[in-house]
Amino acid sequence: MTAPRRPRVVPAYVSLVVICGALVAALLLRSGPDLGGAYAEFWIVTAFVALGELLSISLSGVDGHTEVTTSTIFAIALLIRFGPGAAILAQTVASLAADLRLSKPAYKAAFNVGQYAIAIGAAGVVLSATTGTAFDRGIPDFQAGDLVWVMLAAAVYFVVNRVVTGMVVALSQDTSVWYEITHDIGYQLSINGALLALAPIVVVSAQRSLVLLPLLALPMAIVYKSARVYAEKEYKAHQALHDSLTGMPNRALFYERLGEALAGAAARNEMVAVLLIDLDRFKEINDTLGHHVGDAVLQRIGPRLHGVLREEDTVARLCGDEFGVLIPGLRDGAQAALTAGRLARAMESPIALDLEDDELLLDIEASIGIAISPRDGDDVSTLMQRADVAMYLAKDLHSGVELYSEEQDRHSADQLRLLGDMRRALAAGDLVLHYQPRTNLLTGDVDGVEALMRWTHPKLGPVPPDVFIPLAERTGLIHALTTFAVATALRQQSAWARQGLDLTVAVNLSRRNLVDVAFPSRVRALLDEAGVSASKLELEITESAIMADPARAMKVLGELREMGVRLALDDFGVGQSSLAYLKHLPVSDIKIDRSFVIGMVDDRSDAVIVRSTIDLGRNLGLRVVAEGVETQAAHDALVAMGCDLAQGFLMSRPLAPQDVADWVAERMSVGNDDVAATA
Ligand code: C2E
Ligand code: CA
Ligand code: CA
Repeated sequence: MTAPRRPRVVPAYVSLVVICGALVAALLLRSGPDLGGAYAEFWIVTAFVALGELLSISLSGVDGHTEVTTSTIFAIALLIRFGPGAAILAQTVASLAADLRLSKPAYKAAFNVGQYAIAIGAAGVVLSATTGTAFDRGIPDFQAGDLVWVMLAAAVYFVVNRVVTGMVVALSQDTSVWYEITHDIGYQLSINGALLALAPIVVVSAQRSLVLLPLLALPMAIVYKSARVYAEKEYKAHQALHDSLTGMPNRALFYERLGEALAGAAARNEMVAVLLIDLDRFKEINDTLGHHVGDAVLQRIGPRLHGVLREEDTVARLCGDEFGVLIPGLRDGAQAALTAGRLARAMESPIALDLEDDELLLDIEASIGIAISPRDGDDVSTLMQRADVAMYLAKDLHSGVELYSEEQDRHSADQLRLLGDMRRALAAGDLVLHYQPRTNLLTGDVDGVEALMRWTHPKLGPVPPDVFIPLAERTGLIHALTTFAVATALRQQSAWARQGLDLTVAVNLSRRNLVDVAFPSRVRALLDEAGVSASKLELEITESAIMADPARAMKVLGELREMGVRLALDDFGVGQSSLAYLKHLPVSDIKIDRSFVIGMVDDRSDAVIVRSTIDLGRNLGLRVVAEGVETQAAHDALVAMGCDLAQGFLMSRPLAPQDVADWVAERMSVGNDDVAATA
């Protein structure tokens, strides 16, 4: 998961800001700021700048963005009175003092100074261009008419400051610059922007009389205090609707906006889409790399999603690793699916994380479920629930994106119900085994039987194993099912043995049994319990089951073989046949899939597959079983090809346990008649 290093753009950018800031400062201060003799005024206001920096309100738990300071008021006041040079000088002193107190690293302190110099410089350019004063001078006699230009300069200061700091966040966190600058702008303006309006008042007071300046401390303290109260209130209101880790809207705000979007949509004949995004395997990242990495990943998701959405869309962190996207005002539903595709692609490019000098590239995948109003519902909870159904379907199918469909929903609900019924059937003894005989093609003797599970549902009637086995395989129920099959088949084997019927019983295994390292010891216990020799048990496995986790499967199979259990490779020829594996598998039999055997009489290529499988088996010293022998023609062809064993409807359908003995007895007598006839 580690990867090549990204170019180190952040230090380069920080250096650029520091250098530019130094150049601006040098240009403006080459002959010292022109204070026109008003030293006292300059230093008093500078003291206010420093005081503001030192007392800046940093709201606990919030990232560096949310800082409220009154120092800007005085810095802008200096800009108006004495020009940008003086303002930069004051701000540099104040900023260094504050950073020193917080013992910030030198490069951060330098960056802050550079950033202020650039912002003040830009505001100075605007001020001189609009009021006609020299670039490095202030407005000598500030008049009410200058107010509008002062406000413009303050706005430029605010914007440049935000861009310069937003850039560094975007670069270090790999997010979009636009997002960093705009995502909180209203909130920021309401707090810090509003304070800038006080700057002209400071200037006017100072022009009147210096005595007024210290007096300003009192109202400033009140301003400061109420700013703090206001900021805290704003902050709390913000926090109530935003997630504290990512700063994104939270579930409450998402529901609120969804409700608003739905309210007007019908009247405007518009659709509203809800997308639920859930990260795949996020738990793995958290567990293996730690929560700090998990948190960093979550912080990167929002900006990525933002990048492909429109201004009016909302993306929220709903909980844990689940995100919601609200797309209002849609003209057609296809647009939602297109957006989902774009969101999925935005998530695809690996996330680069800086971890203590180490860089980590993480591949993130997500499953997205979509529900669209009015088609899928017209209230918040229905839409959310349906997007959730679609999201889980996308996860199940590994398809990435799924649209809600009523049919699928019903299907999933049915499957869940069936699973519950199956669990009860197993406990109540309603699942039974039938046994299909397998005969020797050369002698006609019964060689053994394959146990096949049967379930008669009280309402639905017989449910085919092709339906209920895969369902059990998707949950842990398959373990109980296999244990039941092995235990029952062994008990039956021992009952037949007591009647003088010596049959090998074959039981089908599932993929999950092969990755269960405790499975062999469970089989051992069941053999002992039934008092059956391991050689009388055969376990049937498929290649795809082995391929799910070859290393573990080989270990489990090796142990079973060691115990003396026979192993057969089932459904040979379909799926991922790998001859390389076949050589190493501890199997004694291969069972040619019934589709080839059924088709071999009419289809030449099926016949070729059957013949070459028989040859392959013979060359590897394995017995070959043909499944699905339905006709005498197929039977005879298999005899001619030298196949060892046959299983199929021609000989017998799977039989209830009590019918097996009769069938064998009848078969033997027919066999003996044959022998008698030929004799
Ligand atoms: P399978 O292991 O390939 O089992 C053979 C299937 O072929 C059985 O279907 C059997 O009834 C059918 N069959 C036998 N002879 C003929 C024939 O001449 N023509 C045709 N057309 N079909 C024939 P069944 O019983 O419906 O089982 C289907 C599948 O369900 C099995 O395929 C097996 O994969 C799975 N299964 C059944 N019981 C169990 C079980 O106890 N555990 C597990 N894990 N899987 C089971
Ligand atoms: Ca089988
Ligand atoms: Ca089979």
